[in-house]
Amino acid sequence: MVEARQERFVNRTGQFSPKPQKQWRLVTRLIRHVGIQQNEREASDVFWTPERQQLAQRAIEAINQELEPFGAPSLEFHPDQIKFVPQEEMWAKNARAQCNPWFGSFKVSYDYLDSDENFLEDTTHEYLHCSSLRLLQKDREGKLRWRRSGIQIYCKPLQGGISGDSVLFTDIDEGVIQITTKQILCRHFLLDRAIDWQGDLVVGMCEIISRVNKWCPSSDDVFRIFQTAAFGNGRLLELGRIIENTYGRGSLRTLGRLFKAIPHTDGYPNMFYSSEFRALMDFIVEPCAGFRR
Ligand SMILES: [Zn+2]
Repeated sequence: MVEARQERFVNRTGQFSPKPQKQWRLVTRLIRHVGIQQNEREASDVFWTPERQQLAQRAIEAINQELEPFGAPSLEFHPDQIKFVPQEEMWAKNARAQCNPWFGSFKVSYDYLDSDENFLEDTTHEYLHCSSLRLLQKDREGKLRWRRSGIQIYCKPLQGGISGDSVLFTDIDEGVIQITTKQILCRHFLLDRAIDWQGDLVVGMCEIISRVNKWCPSSDDVFRIFQTAAFGNGRLLELGRIIENTYGRGSLRTLGRLFKAIPHTDGYPNMFYSSEFRALMDFIVEPCAGFRR
């Protein structure tokens, strides 16, 4: 069987994409023509106050500076990259913003844009999704399919456990974006914002992993490995190695299965009342439990 050829898409820098800046500029140019409807345009005009334009530009500068060491592409500001939509158009009842990784654009619900601080947090968060790795693969019919978006892996249902919807590690990816958003807002805007459960979970994993892996002395070192996987050249090798070293052989697969098993309502996990969520917690807090599973 011939291996499908992997292709980089839009905004990547580094060895796989020789002209990243040109590609990125092309995409931001295309966004002007793609799918902006009249009602979105009107909403955009209302929401793009000069203060918000300035905040978005400063957020992009901060992101470019923070992600450069990981080899992430530089973002450029373009107001049409963000669409403002009514809440009914969001993927989940309570979602404030959602990214369209294909075009590197995103939607923000205007029900939640009651303050510039919320705006700054949501835009920084979605810009980070746009900056993270996007990798496509041609299938046998030549169609492009998603392979990676940040740490998320798109795969066919696997034999031996992982089944159903085939996106793995969405919550870990989300946690990395939340923590990076928090760090950037704190360092560049002196804003202290909370992280959600995915962020707390990744913080906890980093602490446990750093305790088990003596060569990785602090949880910050471990978190940089997560960030390299999300924003860097796409190699999951180092992250996979420390996770398997901490939780045992095959633990990446187990972790993927445990995350997928958590039941969701309206896009949010049933956390504290579900046995599936407790099983995930038990797994994470018990290093090398994977050896026994
Ligand atoms: Zn997100």
